[in-house]
Amino acid sequence: MFEALPAKGVPGDQILAELQQLRSADLPTHGGRLFAYVYDPALDGLDDLARAAYAISAHVNGLDPTAFPSLLAMENALVGAAAGLLGGDEQTVGSVTSGGTESLILAVKAARDSRPSLATPRLVIPSTAHAAFAKAAHYLRVALDVVPVGDDLRADPAALAAAIGPDTVLVAASAPSYAHGVVDPIPQIAAVCAERGVRFHVDACFGGWVLPYLQRLGADLPPFDLSVPGVTSISVDLHKYAYAPKGVSILLHRDEALRLPQYFAYAGWPGYTMINPIISSTRSGGPIAAALATLRHIGDAGYLELAGRTREAVKLLADAVTATPGLRLFAPPETSVVCLTSDDSTPTTALHAGAPDGGAPDGDGGGAGGAGGGGAGSGVDLFVLADELAARGWHTQPQMAYAGMPPTIHLTVTASVRATALEFAGDLADAVAAARAAGPVVLPAPLLEAAGALTPEMVTPDLIAGLAETMGLGGGDFTKMAAVNSLLNVAPAALREALLTGFLSLLQRPGAGAQGVG
Ligand SMILES: *Cc1c(COP(=O)(O)O)cnc(C)c1O
Repeated sequence: MFEALPAKGVPGDQILAELQQLRSADLPTHGGRLFAYVYDPALDGLDDLARAAYAISAHVNGLDPTAFPSLLAMENALVGAAAGLLGGDEQTVGSVTSGGTESLILAVKAARDSRPSLATPRLVIPSTAHAAFAKAAHYLRVALDVVPVGDDLRADPAALAAAIGPDTVLVAASAPSYAHGVVDPIPQIAAVCAERGVRFHVDACFGGWVLPYLQRLGADLPPFDLSVPGVTSISVDLHKYAYAPKGVSILLHRDEALRLPQYFAYAGWPGYTMINPIISSTRSGGPIAAALATLRHIGDAGYLELAGRTREAVKLLADAVTATPGLRLFAPPETSVVCLTSDDSTPTTALHAGAPDGGAPDGDGGGAGGAGGGGAGSGVDLFVLADELAARGWHTQPQMAYAGMPPTIHLTVTASVRATALEFAGDLADAVAAARAAGPVVLPAPLLEAAGALTPEMVTPDLIAGLAETMGLGGGDFTKMAAVNSLLNVAPAALREALLTGFLSLLQRPGAGAQGVG
């Protein structure tokens, strides 16, 4: 087991070798074979540059910009670049945060604290908005009003308007949504918000650094940024399509007055007066310097070229899906996401605690009863397909059924995928054939019965440990996930949350994981 505090210090060479060995178990961050979590421009030398820049500023503390003016200069430059790209003007201000979630929490905080007299401030979002808004609402005790999207998977301006009340402090929408990669009708929503005098945040965390370039390349996308009247703030993650190392996002506000309630200030203790624009106080300059180096090295022309490659890759992948019998695109591939589903995929019957007809198989092994999670009937089970793709070295992101939507597979497409897209297309056909041959997942009846009777309150560490063992997750091998995903897919949301929380809690203990190192 890896010892973080050995009795005697270990030589540096040995430690680096150990880290390399640990890293070898990870999914590949480069090479265009991982379609979530990582963003790879496939540019020679960029990693070395970012690493070197990171090292220069790693120990600098962003807590106090007067002590470390280098960080103030870099942050202002990054905010300025984002404002320039996203329709800002000389009034635009912003902050550098650690990621999209922090940017969204702060957008909600600024909106909430702009109206301190409200007992229950409210946030209105379309159902496709990122989960980080729910997290923000939870952390900040803001009530969340979730509005269904239309059949086109886009936010419905009229429905959002109807959800706005006197206590609504913020409306948010996506450009584009993470799950499906579609752009909400930002101008229409902005008009409604402006008329009602409510702040409107555009979550461009995912696509904010690629959409402007796709538009320049001729993509037919609506205006989505600060150039749209009524948009009061917008966020963009530099660790996504700006291809910076992890830990940098930008939150822009239309003007300083809108940003002011984002700050936290406290002088009521004997130490230094703390003034923080963001959640962290002490923070490393490393990610900021690395992001600046990345932007300056790639440059505007470089990003345009990368967006062109991404666009070609999206087209190739989307064509491959369309050409594969049994699969179809679930959303139009209008940005940098390809979201696919099984041709005959219908929403599966949910497990229903206590209900006798709640998805228990009727003995014929059929998927229609709810046991086959990823695609009912005789079609391609998407969760089996994801495993078959993984076996061929392609790591995709299965998404569970939600509110009448079937399960889908999400592909985040970056510039590196341009070089691998055709190979993927060939393997996709293979993987579909293999998934058909394997047939849909059929969960054992006793397991389904037991799961059907489960409530979130019944989920204990012992139950999780037993379930993980039953499902073959005991050894830390997460490559065969179809059965697990099928079970989670039919679990009600609250049960799925409890099961996965319990499972992560099982993993996140000293002594768990990282076997065989040291
Ligand atoms: C990634 C993402 C977020 C959250 O960002 P993190 O950097 O993971 O915290 C928020 N919104 C959208 C649309 C995203 O894609």
